[in-house]
Amino acid sequence: MKYRTLLYLAALLLSLPITAATQPASAAPTLPPALTKRLAPPPVLQEKTDLPCLRCDGSGHIHRLASQDLKRVGRRERESTHRITKRRLLSTCPVCNGAGHCVRAYTNSEKLPAIKLMRHAYDEAQLKAGRIPVGAAYADRSAMETLSPEDQARLAHQYPKICTTCFGLGKICCRRCDGLGFKPGEVDRETGIKEPNEPCSTCKTLGETVCKRCDGSGLARICSSCDGTGLRQKRDRNAPSGYKTVLCTSCDGAGRR
Ligand SMILES: [Zn+2]
Ligand SMILES: [Zn+2]
Ligand SMILES: [Zn+2]
Ligand SMILES: [Zn+2]
Repeated sequence: MKYRTLLYLAALLLSLPITAATQPASAAPTLPPALTKRLAPPPVLQEKTDLPCLRCDGSGHIHRLASQDLKRVGRRERESTHRITKRRLLSTCPVCNGAGHCVRAYTNSEKLPAIKLMRHAYDEAQLKAGRIPVGAAYADRSAMETLSPEDQARLAHQYPKICTTCFGLGKICCRRCDGLGFKPGEVDRETGIKEPNEPCSTCKTLGETVCKRCDGSGLARICSSCDGTGLRQKRDRNAPSGYKTVLCTSCDGAGRR
């Protein structure tokens, strides 16, 4: 990914209100509001957002005659326009109208760095506010301490811990083609004609591959100490059954780690 894009993303994300992120309908809370309101939900990558323009690479202007336009004109014209291209005549980018940025979807290569930045900013803000991790979310320590281990585990299951490789996306950008889905054909310097693009054999033109760590679920692995419940039974002489339910110490009640 381009350095300029990274910088822009960082600036954009740091200005976002972290706790205002909305969760998709599929992850709607099923616990009573009294419990769920104790959570600061994790951020979600928006489908589309204001990002640097891809056509002009954020500069707001393009070469008046890009090489892909050259193959449409005749040979004689091509020779003269090629000279013009070399002189680098600039005109306003038609995609972003010269702004250098526009609302668009993330490219495959931008997704993971964007969600990583978002997640790190969220983690930092939550820890700074003195909250503790509860699954993939955070909650106030004092509020959590008043809950039973069962309710703490239920709360931690609300936002399951995410895979540390794909950060919950389930897919990662194809390394072979850098997310493009094809290998771009080279441009003939003499004629300005571009070779056809070659489909990527690794991702089958999708630009993404399934994350191997989580098999595409986007979630962290189930904790083997508690079989994913987040709870364990501990010997307790004072309890009628001789046992009491406590949080699993391996996963802190999240059920995944
Ligand atoms: Zn542009
Ligand atoms: Zn993964
Ligand atoms: Zn590929
Ligand atoms: Zn566990």
